[in-house]
Amino acid sequence: MRIVDIQVGELSLPLAHPFKTALRTVERLEDIVVRVVGEDGSTGYGEAPPTAVITGDTKGSILCAIQDFIKPAIVGMDLDDLPAVMEKLNGCMVHNTTPKAAVDMALYDLWAKSQGKPLYQLLGNAKTSFETDITISVNPTEEMVRDSLEAVERGFHTLKVKVGKEGTADVDRMAAIRQAVGPGVKLRVDANQGWTAQQSVTIIKAMEDKGLDIELVEQPVPALDVDGLKLVTSQVDTPILADEAVFSPRDAANIIATHAADYINIKLMKTGGIWNALKICEMAKQNGVKCMIGCMLESQVSVAAAAHLCAGQEVITMADLDGPSLCATPPMPGGPRFEEAVISMTSDPGVGLRDIPCDNWH
Ligand SMILES: [Mg+2]
Repeated sequence: MRIVDIQVGELSLPLAHPFKTALRTVERLEDIVVRVVGEDGSTGYGEAPPTAVITGDTKGSILCAIQDFIKPAIVGMDLDDLPAVMEKLNGCMVHNTTPKAAVDMALYDLWAKSQGKPLYQLLGNAKTSFETDITISVNPTEEMVRDSLEAVERGFHTLKVKVGKEGTADVDRMAAIRQAVGPGVKLRVDANQGWTAQQSVTIIKAMEDKGLDIELVEQPVPALDVDGLKLVTSQVDTPILADEAVFSPRDAANIIATHAADYINIKLMKTGGIWNALKICEMAKQNGVKCMIGCMLESQVSVAAAAHLCAGQEVITMADLDGPSLCATPPMPGGPRFEEAVISMTSDPGVGLRDIPCDNWH
């Protein structure tokens, strides 16, 4: 099918609670959405969250990338030759992984629709449902304990706790949460690059000594400090997950080759979409490395695409796809069902969303 147009729009959704990490505080989700149109009038949807502090992409840069570089490169191409379209998308400019991801997922949506199949079945068809964790924002300890209990009450069995702002005080914070939720709940810790390598070793060992039973620690050190990441991974027993350190398949190859981390967190906004994410999955599979699928502050549009990748790939054994649960708005119709912790795939063709709340397509 020939691609005849790529349109953009803006999506603005309120969050149920402000989202706070070591890097930022956000109260509303303000994303660019993408609509790819095929020659038969069918459409595929994508979403680009401007996450300047992580990917460097801003609203303006996303719009410019799509309208001035990606659209002229892709429109007119034939989606039946998916590899050619994807190589062109990735080759038309460097970096800009967020706009590339939005267009990539919209193209995959349209491609799967043209075959009448749900996307996950074309991406490996590994599972029909899975569980996601939910993020607990950095706040005073009593607030984090309250949020954790509330999440468990809502049916979440795994909490991803944001720390990294206060060094060793994070140990006490995790101890308070563990004590409140009891032993049955899985706790993941995300430091978002907030510690040095030496601090990380001290803090993680202290958590181990206290028996806090932490499932994994995500990105303890700055993204570029791969040697530091490797040092932490080699010195603690708790598995270390690389997040900000892995954007591209090349980053993943480096982390795997040097064993700088135990697991890899794949996010479509870092890889530039499903095409490159599949390359990381293949590498991870060949090397026995497990992956998590994560998201930025994203709505159901792009998280649904990530859910398809997770359901398609066996090597993705952990999910951090809580974007839709953080929004205060009701679910959009079609596609994977997000019911608190459980994400279930449906038989809707493509990614599945029938319409998205955007009225300013241009
Ligand atoms: Mg992270």
